[in-house]
Amino acid sequence: MSIVYDRVALIGLGLIASSIFWASKRGNLAGEVVGYARSADTRDTAREIGLCDTVYDDIRDAVRDADLVVLCVPVGVMGDVVAQIADVLKPGATLTDVGSVKRDVITSVTPHLPQGVHFVPAHPLAGTEHSGPRSGFAELFDNRWSLLVPVDGTAPAATAKLRRFWEGLGANVEEMDADHHDLVLAVTSHAPHLIAYTMVGVADDLRRVTDSEVVKYSAAGFRDFTRIAASDPTMWRDVFLTNKDATLEILGRFTEELFALQRAIRQGDGDHLFDYFTRTRAIRRGIIEAGQDTDAPNFGRTPGQKP
Ligand code: NAP
Repeated sequence: MSIVYDRVALIGLGLIASSIFWASKRGNLAGEVVGYARSADTRDTAREIGLCDTVYDDIRDAVRDADLVVLCVPVGVMGDVVAQIADVLKPGATLTDVGSVKRDVITSVTPHLPQGVHFVPAHPLAGTEHSGPRSGFAELFDNRWSLLVPVDGTAPAATAKLRRFWEGLGANVEEMDADHHDLVLAVTSHAPHLIAYTMVGVADDLRRVTDSEVVKYSAAGFRDFTRIAASDPTMWRDVFLTNKDATLEILGRFTEELFALQRAIRQGDGDHLFDYFTRTRAIRRGIIEAGQDTDAPNFGRTPGQKP
């Protein structure tokens, strides 16, 4: 791979930013990758582990000469962050983000955008339940999707260059409209996270059980809910507050299906349950065939491995 941008600035130095950093070094995609994080603690950690060629204490110094600025902060603060840096962005630079919701980011960032800066929102469909500057790794985006959501008037050359950068990070890239993105992600990510949070919350409410059996016997499915429900609270609060309509639409459908399954159980309608579970099993096969998860039993966990 060859250098795509001379200078890249990462704003926010958590899981996604640190993975972008390590993957861009692996692929030699940038002459220099600099960074800024809000807290001195995170900046100190970044310097200690060699995350970024330079870590700045002032966000404006970090972005001043950057050819690409990547906003890697929670969705709810994207607009505020751009307001702080807008007047020092380099003319001709590309501004992008990695937020999990797109329409709200576009609405909050656009009013602050200076003339001559290209805004190309993006969202890598890759992550883990870990967060912070130590959690990133170069392989995070390998063979995962990264969706680009160019806004009206975005120069095609700016989008094409960002596409090359994401491909260099290991991702497969597609373009998508913002509202469609938010609906698709409500189905594939946002609603499932809310359901996992709910399931773990229900178990926690049953304290008598949680104290002993639920943790002890967690391998039976519940463990996978707890992994998802361990995701960063700030990030997920912002996702639900900013992708409200699409999430509520999907949760409405979910509730209807849940009631139908509940009725089938109550009425002993085994055919309904069997047909339903046969249909859902096919979805899992499709995900494996698309290379988006491992076919290994139990998500590839080693037998006998401690949970
Ligand atoms: P993370 O590991 O928690 O890191 C978030 C970073 O944002 C930290 O450096 C934090 O600074 C900074 N930050 C938090 N609140 C801020 C504020 N009010 N003002 C300025 N900076 C603030 O999060 P992440 O997982 O990398 O997520 C970053 C973005 O990627 C989010 O928009 C998320 O929606 C998106 N995303 C996440 C995933 C995932 O699975 N995690 C996947 C795809 C996209 P401090 O360290 O100083 O607190």
